[in-house]
Amino acid sequence: MIQLYIPLNFLGVIYREIKQSLTDLEKMFTLLEREREIADLPNAPALQLAANGSDASVRFDHVTFAYDPVATEGDKSQGGRTILHNISFEIPAGKTVAVVGPSGSGKSTLARLLFRFYDVGTQAHIAQGQSGRILIGGQNIKDVTQASLRQAIGIVPQDTVLFNDTVEYNIAYGKPGATRAEVEAAAQAARIHGFISSAPKGYDTMVGERGLKLSGGEKQRVAIARTLLKNPPILIFDEATSALDSANERAIQAELQNVAQNKTTLVIAHRLSTVVDAHEILVMDAGHIIERGTHAALLAKNGRYAQMWALQQSAD
Ligand code: ATP
Repeated sequence: MIQLYIPLNFLGVIYREIKQSLTDLEKMFTLLEREREIADLPNAPALQLAANGSDASVRFDHVTFAYDPVATEGDKSQGGRTILHNISFEIPAGKTVAVVGPSGSGKSTLARLLFRFYDVGTQAHIAQGQSGRILIGGQNIKDVTQASLRQAIGIVPQDTVLFNDTVEYNIAYGKPGATRAEVEAAAQAARIHGFISSAPKGYDTMVGERGLKLSGGEKQRVAIARTLLKNPPILIFDEATSALDSANERAIQAELQNVAQNKTTLVIAHRLSTVVDAHEILVMDAGHIIERGTHAALLAKNGRYAQMWALQQSAD
């Protein structure tokens, strides 16, 4: 029995390891897959922004978008469904715009388009009834190189992908070639330094299945540290839907606000408390902006946002 148990257990460990690395690989390939569909124009210039980000405004100009413009044989249900309808808004440089709305209303799609996982307004799109453009600092993002665009944008996603590597590698990923001192400074600012230092091998501790296991909040802090290291002029925060305990949530929000200081920020908010100070709040439903304004203006309007706010207050 014991003899049988040991190899089986060993196989289980190997299986878990392979599965974990496949998960990472899968995620990488999904990203690469997307990238192949988006091609830079021949001789595309780099996105030009001032070093201090003072011109890094973001503008969605009448964007209408569908993921699958042509229905495929296998899945006619999704084909041609318009996900965003004539969306226009501007984030002035250094300001924050927050997007709220029910699941499936198109919030994350805005973020994906800004990071150019999909193009809008190409000739092919226009032929299929889609339209619009997305501008950063007045430059259409489909006309500049993807590398320069992605250099200018930092994302703190809902679920941070951590690599099966050391903590240091996972943070330094935000800035290839970063020194240990820079990594530690970013971790300090994201308030994860203490946690990392308490692990036996500190920053050399492996992350993942057989190493340091991180909670949702800790993973988000790693993502914040990555973004701090990268120091881009534009930020996208996709707030976690999974509930953190409220002390942790408040702390993470405070850190996010810190990172967002003077950066052009798009926040996809699931908790309305995050959006109170936004320059503008967009309330989305089924791909339309149904209300927009500041927190105070939207409360005074006593419409959908005010209802959502009242609901969330009573739930807290
Ligand atoms: P949540 O709050 O649940 O994250 P969301 O408002 O961010 O939702 P999106 O992820 O933007 O919503 O999705 C908007 C719609 O687009 C949904 O109906 C979704 O099913 C559809 N969708 C998302 N990704 C794809 C895709 N890759 N291909 C086809 N349809 C998609």
